[in-house]
Amino acid sequence: MATFQGFLLTKDDDGSQRLAWTDIDEGDLMDGEVTVEVSHSSLNYKDGLALTGSSPVVRRWPMVPGIDLAGRVRGSSDPTFAPGDQVVLNGWGAGETHWGGYAELARVPAGWLVPLPAGLTPSDAMAIGTAGFTAMLCVLALEAHGIEPSSGPVVVTGAAGGVGTVAVALLAQRGHEVVASTGRVEEEGDLLRSLGAAQVLDRSELEGDVRPLGRERWAAGVDAVGSTTLANVLSMTSYGGTVAACGLAGGMDLPGSVAPFILRGVTLAGIDSVMCPLERRLAAWERLGTDLPLEKLRSLSEVRPIGDAPQLAEEILAGRVRGRVVFDVDG
Ligand code: NDP
Repeated sequence: MATFQGFLLTKDDDGSQRLAWTDIDEGDLMDGEVTVEVSHSSLNYKDGLALTGSSPVVRRWPMVPGIDLAGRVRGSSDPTFAPGDQVVLNGWGAGETHWGGYAELARVPAGWLVPLPAGLTPSDAMAIGTAGFTAMLCVLALEAHGIEPSSGPVVVTGAAGGVGTVAVALLAQRGHEVVASTGRVEEEGDLLRSLGAAQVLDRSELEGDVRPLGRERWAAGVDAVGSTTLANVLSMTSYGGTVAACGLAGGMDLPGSVAPFILRGVTLAGIDSVMCPLERRLAAWERLGTDLPLEKLRSLSEVRPIGDAPQLAEEILAGRVRGRVVFDVDG
């Protein structure tokens, strides 16, 4: 039986999980029409949770982790894809319920794949990955609610992380005045300004007691942090504004009031990347291919060998990863 190499997460009888880089039988690949030779994957917050076992992300065992992948089609029983096509996959349960991107081969349903956007390399696509894709979904949600550069500033929380850095770059490129909120003003302030942030805010300003309504500071927000931070962002959003909520890096609760909604007509737009329908997915990837300047994308990302994944999983949960990490899987 032919084998390939990859990370495999297994569960012991006592419930503890184990992660090993190992040989895997091709015959064990899961169902799907398309077999992909994976060249690159990426590190997301959810990968950190899965690899460390600190949250029940993985719901099928054993599991090849990795919620993103990019590579080349080896074989397909679906006419949409042919051998040699370059493809990208993010979400749909990869790395959670279906074997994901931290291995040399993946077999997935054809409907989960999008063609590699023109002008991007597989490494660029993974520098975007789920985090960047989610940032784009947030920007699209703000647009759908009428937010334009003339509306006023847009705050981005968790700005030095994966979602945050891409959101800052996308919004600034589109002409928005971006306020970047980060706990790493000293270390990452220059990066955020180079991505186009007009102002870099210490995140402690958004971690204090939440008032029902605060001073109106921005017209919109992209929030990757949740909890008190999101509640404060909402209370400081101006009349008719919109906040796209996608993350929980600071907690899953929302300790605020309804005042921003009922007194200022503020909209809270929820963002999910995992089950995002194909049509919106294709539109988001197309916009990423055209809107995100490559030099900015490359400045906010670094390529690391896939063997570094266990160590980086700890780092991302500790909030110490800067921007995006791409994994070289076949190098
Ligand atoms: P990163 O770890 O790269 O970025 C998160 C950032 O949040 C950190 O860099 C840090 O930014 C900030 N942060 C971390 N811990 C805290 C804390 N305790 N309090 C306040 N701020 C904190 O993760 P990603 O960008 O990949 O993901 C961000 C969030 O979005 C995660 O919760 C993730 O699960 C979620 N997500 C959701 C998706 C969806 O489909 N809805 C898809 C992708 C991600 P700084 O240092 O600048 O303060």
